[in-house]
Amino acid sequence: MQNILLFLVSLTITPYSQAYGSKPTREQVCCLALHGLFPAEVNFQGSGTYTNETHKYFSAANFVQPACVFLPATAAHVSYAVQLFNKVKCNFAIRSGGHLPVPGSNGRNGAVLLATSKLNHVKFKGSVAKIGPGNTWIDVYRKTDLIGQVVPDGRVGSVGVGGLVLGGGVSFQQSDYGFACDNVVNFQVVTADGKIRNANAISNPDLFWALKGGGNRFGIVTSFDMKMYPLGRIYGGELTYQYSSLPEVLAQVDKYHGEDRDSKSSIIVNVIDANDLGYGQFVEVVLYYGKPVSSPPPVFQPFFGIPGLIANTVTTKPFSVLVPADKQGLPPGVLSHTWRSVTYQPSAAVNERVSDIFQEEVKSFREERGTDLQPGIFTLAYEPYSTGLTAASQRTGGNALGLDARKGPLMLALLTYSWTNQTESALRTAAVKKSVERMKAASLAAGKHIDWIYLNAAAPDQLPYQSYGKGNFERLRRVRDRYDPKGVFSKLQSGGFPL
Ligand SMILES: Cc1cc2nc3c(=O)[nH]c(=O)nc-3n(C[C@H](O)[C@H](O)[C@H](O)COP(=O)(O)OP(=O)(O)OC[C@H]3O[C@@H](n4cnc5c(N)ncnc54)[C@H](O)[C@@H]3O)c2cc1C
Repeated sequence: MQNILLFLVSLTITPYSQAYGSKPTREQVCCLALHGLFPAEVNFQGSGTYTNETHKYFSAANFVQPACVFLPATAAHVSYAVQLFNKVKCNFAIRSGGHLPVPGSNGRNGAVLLATSKLNHVKFKGSVAKIGPGNTWIDVYRKTDLIGQVVPDGRVGSVGVGGLVLGGGVSFQQSDYGFACDNVVNFQVVTADGKIRNANAISNPDLFWALKGGGNRFGIVTSFDMKMYPLGRIYGGELTYQYSSLPEVLAQVDKYHGEDRDSKSSIIVNVIDANDLGYGQFVEVVLYYGKPVSSPPPVFQPFFGIPGLIANTVTTKPFSVLVPADKQGLPPGVLSHTWRSVTYQPSAAVNERVSDIFQEEVKSFREERGTDLQPGIFTLAYEPYSTGLTAASQRTGGNALGLDARKGPLMLALLTYSWTNQTESALRTAAVKKSVERMKAASLAAGKHIDWIYLNAAAPDQLPYQSYGKGNFERLRRVRDRYDPKGVFSKLQSGGFPL
């Protein structure tokens, strides 16, 4: 294998230099060598597939111009590519659904983009689904709906399987089944040496544990075997309220976020200020109840009585209908986004303070930008995580996220600024950082702060692995050093949080 790769590499350099009058970059060498091996899977600038794949991102700020787009169709293709990257020292990036709005995390200009689009199998065997990272969750749910099952995973259909599960994965079914990664029974993964391995409770158990929340530092996952659970039609949708209803909504969220919530229920609250795009300001509560009831279960009844309710889409429906691909109202890739999160113990006072800070900071951002302000959206999401989430994680053997040791429910507040014009990228990112630092200070002052940064909701300068506890952080580093001693996934791969 090594000899074939070297031979292919040597074949590429001379013709390239003759044609273009310069030496190719290492990444161009990798693209040409991959093209020699798998011509149908390598796409260069100018092709329709290249254009399509380089724009498959949630955030327009993540669009890239890689040396080529490699679309492996099998784990063996991935194995060849990893060996080649290692040999030639090519920079590369991995992209599944492209929803991490951290520029560079899933593509880089001039690097090789390994996009998982063709690894899009979904197969069922008993109560296990074998899922390729090239799927989005809506692809999976449309199939599981047909057999009356669910894999506990993303709450927005356009999110990719690869990144969400490797970062943990918070689902509507969290109270019963834990994080999405807790439901993986086997990862098929290509490690830095190019070996195609299985990581499960028996084979490579240390790698199995690390992949449950450890992100992209350990290999390229080519298939996820995940547990499924029976699920028929569900009850859910959105309740939309006037902006002025926010205090009542938050008060109700705090009551809901108690210790003994109905485990079939889950909510997300989005506070949205889309005035600059002409969509107004409103509060949206997404409700999910995992049974086909036809009227609000007791746990949700108070939400229906809050004054200022202006729209209600809550009905009994198939699960895949609750999580459409374009949940944000706008399809992925239309806007650029930047986000940052903070985590704290449930507290009505901190929730209120967080929303005050959100409104103050948005106001001051608008004032500072004045007539230069670009159209955009400001969103504050409250995600109440249940006690059941961490308890379920413990039952299934634990993960790298380090939450199982922490008791009680928690609130994740996620602030996202979205915009249409790239000139505001740096300004909006800085403004989000300033706001969330203030929110963190408020939760610290109230004695409610939890020093836990969810990798799947982190800004590039946040340090999720360090927040998973000293023991987990060091264990993750040991696993990384064992499977990737030369640092292929840390040094050659673009993106990922420092470990
Ligand atoms: C609209 C929206 C809704 C969301 N909803 C939820 C939610 O309900 N629950 C939740 O937990 N999170 C949610 N998230 C966060 C989401 O989980 C993360 O953004 C996640 O990283 C997205 O995964 P992806 O595959 O789409 O992204 P990508 O950007 O493709 O991947 C994210 C990271 O994982 C790496 N990666 C991807 N695939 C592989 C692979 N096969 N092998 C190795 N590394 C890989 C990439 O290199 C990248 O660094 C949401 C995000 C958005 C934008």
